[in-house]
Amino acid sequence: MSESLPKLLLRRSEAGRGAALWGREAQPHFGRAFDRLLADRVLTERAPATTWPPCRTCDAGCGPRAIAEIDGRFVAECPEDHACDTVLAPHEVRSFAIDPEALVRLIAAATGLPGTPFMVTEGAWMLGRTPTTGRAIVLVLDPVAGRDPDLVALVRAEAPVGCPVTVLLPSGMEHADMRRLTTAGFHAIPALDALAGAAGPAFALDGASLEPTPAREPKVILRAGARSIVLFGRTVKLSQRRFLVAQTIAAAASRRAIASRRDIERALYGNRSVDDRLVADAVRDLREAIAPALPDGIAPADFVQTRSNQGYALGVEHDLIRLDP
Ligand SMILES: [Zn+2]
Repeated sequence: MSESLPKLLLRRSEAGRGAALWGREAQPHFGRAFDRLLADRVLTERAPATTWPPCRTCDAGCGPRAIAEIDGRFVAECPEDHACDTVLAPHEVRSFAIDPEALVRLIAAATGLPGTPFMVTEGAWMLGRTPTTGRAIVLVLDPVAGRDPDLVALVRAEAPVGCPVTVLLPSGMEHADMRRLTTAGFHAIPALDALAGAAGPAFALDGASLEPTPAREPKVILRAGARSIVLFGRTVKLSQRRFLVAQTIAAAASRRAIASRRDIERALYGNRSVDDRLVADAVRDLREAIAPALPDGIAPADFVQTRSNQGYALGVEHDLIRLDP
């Protein structure tokens, strides 16, 4: 079983109205927890499947295949060639409709949010407000609702003025859609990431993930205009050459990448081809220049790191690097 039942249901619910769980996926989860979902009407068993997708192997290009029950076995029959028939396990013809409303209520209750969830717009629900911080939690199941330009206004209309808002989104949302929500001041994260997992009760959201982590103070700031670098609060003026080297390495590191020797060469010399050692010399110069600004215990070579055969990295987390004009 690679995925928990809550995650599986949440992921399948992203299909919007008519979302269903197929027996093949459900089967590893059959048991008490699954029966509970049936009893609570989060899942409702549908009539057994009567057709099956066309077979991949037959040359005749058959269409959807009828499922016949033969000697107590289910067989998807190829009208063209019985050698292509597929014998199905009993669970494979089963499927379960997912009731998004019931799922949403279950998640809100498991998370300990007081009140009853309600729909903000088709496919998006206000789950409630966290008891500790009063944050409004919105769960968007349907990607169509996540892409709705009016979502911000619809959520604002339902949350008290000034109330912090977290929006849990279906997977695969476009950056621009996420951006619209974060620009509005909402904390927006994928719903699948917010499920507490094995640690918490099933279907509960992880309280910590619902709260945004405060932005951290940058440890490395590159100031292009002043040609200086601020390291752990200490400012160092750099020569043009050293600044270009620092900027190239920091820009790559801020994208979690490694600056190649070629990147540095290009920053310093354009497309002129130069001796390999010039880059190594330039990096060594930079290390010497910044050494006095580094806190005790951080050696220059630990801060501007050489990655053999790849290039250079910075010994600081990517989100702690800022590049100013
Ligand atoms: Zn066929």
